[in-house]
Amino acid sequence: MGSNEFDSLVLGLAEFVRRDGRYPYPELLRYALNKLALELTAVPYPRTLTGLLALLEKPVKTWYPRSLLPKEFDSDFGLLYEGGLSEETSRYFYEELLEQGKIPEFATAATKQIAIENYQFYKILGRLQELYNNDSDPECIQQEYVLLRSFLIENGYTTPAQLRKVFFKTRHIDIEEVGDLYEDCEENEPCWNCDRCGPLFKKYGKLRGIKPSACNDHRQDLPYVRKITWQQGLRRLKFGIHLRICLPGLPEIRLFHTLKELQRKYPDQLCATHLYPGIDRYDLQLCFCDGATWAVDIKDYQNPYNLAPKLTPLFGEGDLHYDESFYVIPIQRLQQREDYIEILREQAIKLPSSTHLLSDAVFQERVINKIECLK
Ligand SMILES: [Zn+2]
Repeated sequence: MGSNEFDSLVLGLAEFVRRDGRYPYPELLRYALNKLALELTAVPYPRTLTGLLALLEKPVKTWYPRSLLPKEFDSDFGLLYEGGLSEETSRYFYEELLEQGKIPEFATAATKQIAIENYQFYKILGRLQELYNNDSDPECIQQEYVLLRSFLIENGYTTPAQLRKVFFKTRHIDIEEVGDLYEDCEENEPCWNCDRCGPLFKKYGKLRGIKPSACNDHRQDLPYVRKITWQQGLRRLKFGIHLRICLPGLPEIRLFHTLKELQRKYPDQLCATHLYPGIDRYDLQLCFCDGATWAVDIKDYQNPYNLAPKLTPLFGEGDLHYDESFYVIPIQRLQQREDYIEILREQAIKLPSSTHLLSDAVFQERVINKIECLK
């Protein structure tokens, strides 16, 4: 029953943060904190709210009862970070709870609302996948899917006019449902975007990204930090879509553009690069002139132990058949932890040894080598 208590604490905090810490505190949070007060032994239970919030920012392993801690949570992180959910708490909330359908009976309407928002994208994805398998024109559905997904990755902010312009011709995607993946910005609210991690939040007078472990320098004069001028109808990606679609998509799109550039230079060797083939069965498919096909999935996780259980053989039926498969990790992750690939190889027990695990930099070298061999 241990993780039940931990999960209520996470769900309660998610709701608390969403309300900007305003009274009354979510019932779920009060319940979880009462439980915590009884179980806490490593440190005394804080007597003030400020003390409590400070405790929740400390690495969970230093204070939370070990026996109640789920193994899927990386306890080097705190539950909160600068007054918001820490990135590990956000990841756990979306990935381990919402997406696994683990919204417990006792979750409140507010938590269920967050879950519904998060499913808006997966609802569209599911519908397009079904159409793709049954429709007479899968090519068109594929194109519309890539249009939607890359739009969400490349546009942390949008306006109704832009949505109309981009989606006025799509047959299977409705402008309104794309708009629903965004929320209104407050009038005259200063809005900022980072090219590397998407929309930014202002906390304690500083700009903060959604994933500080990957991108944490957001001084306003940096070239990749841009101010978005407020205008009527300006909308920002909803948090869950930002976290689960836009953020992981940025390294995918970056690698796609690099490979497209190689294809433009060497069209006789690298004949095609497809993004999200088969409505997102994996991230990239490369076709070489000797008939070889490579399948690539990009994974940006700070902790290899969290990533390993997610690595399974890439789907390879029909058009998605491949000769080589790759899981590609942004090189920054490997620089933060030298034994990253080693741990991944050892822990990813569902993965055949033929699937390559490497950094984006090494992967690009492999592609260039392959092109050289084909010249
Ligand atoms: Zn950033």
